[in-house]
Amino acid sequence: MKPAKAFPALIICAILLISCGAPRESGTIPDAGGNDFHIVTSFYPIYVLTINVAGDIPGVRVTNMTEPQSGCLHDYELSPADMKALEYADLFVINGAGMEAFIDEVKKAYPDLAIAEAAKDIPLIIDEHTGEPNPHVWVSISNAIRQVDNIKKALAEADPAHKEQYSRNAGEFKDKLQVQKDRMHEELNDIRSRDIVTFHEAFPYFAQEFGLNIAAVIEREPGTEPTAAELEETIEIINALGVKAVFAEPQYSARAAETIAAETGARVYILDPLVTGPKDADPGSYVETMEKNLQTLIEALK
Ligand SMILES: [Zn+2]
Repeated sequence: MKPAKAFPALIICAILLISCGAPRESGTIPDAGGNDFHIVTSFYPIYVLTINVAGDIPGVRVTNMTEPQSGCLHDYELSPADMKALEYADLFVINGAGMEAFIDEVKKAYPDLAIAEAAKDIPLIIDEHTGEPNPHVWVSISNAIRQVDNIKKALAEADPAHKEQYSRNAGEFKDKLQVQKDRMHEELNDIRSRDIVTFHEAFPYFAQEFGLNIAAVIEREPGTEPTAAELEETIEIINALGVKAVFAEPQYSARAAETIAAETGARVYILDPLVTGPKDADPGSYVETMEKNLQTLIEALK
């Protein structure tokens, strides 16, 4: 709706010799979405959480900045299309906790853009290898509930006209998340083995929530194949603990996981940290994916 850069807006005002009043009534910007409140999200999991809060409200639009198959945004570089998507954003909803390493670039280009951090005030786990906070908070359902609250609050502040709808939607979604969380606690209470090996550092919050122990992580650096020494170290841990399940992720090649499985006799399963999905993401996909993960864990660990 409104351009986030004041400069071009001023030029347009000057050229058209009109008064630029409240930005939502502007309408001088072609194809700017009229009076819709335009929310842009940084990547897939934040998009899915946000459409549950805002998706069905007339006059509110939610657009995901990155492609739904982009995956985690570690080392992500902004494209011209990404920058374009932010041009008419009224609010940019990001995960925060260091996931969007490019955020300073956005702030520089659009100093007036309102930015909401979904991970705000969530206690972060510090990665023992990097010393940096682990940003994958949404993979724990308890944290996803907190993120929904943060998103709801930010939306209501930025767009008070739809405050009640945001609040109602968030409440309904949080109920569904709570039901799924309770179900998973119940099912995972009596699993035989709690040691797991995961693919990249996406699962510490999930493991913390359900009392699982991540014995090793295959790819320390996402997108980079483990070194021979790292692979060897993982294999030793698996053999020493008798780990039965190695969890690959749908977003990454399972080659390293299969090598490890062949060397140890552990089986490879797929655990989905919800970082990618279809272009027309379904609001129900968070709970559905968690249900799939639950079934996988039951099969692998019971
Ligand atoms: Zn990641």
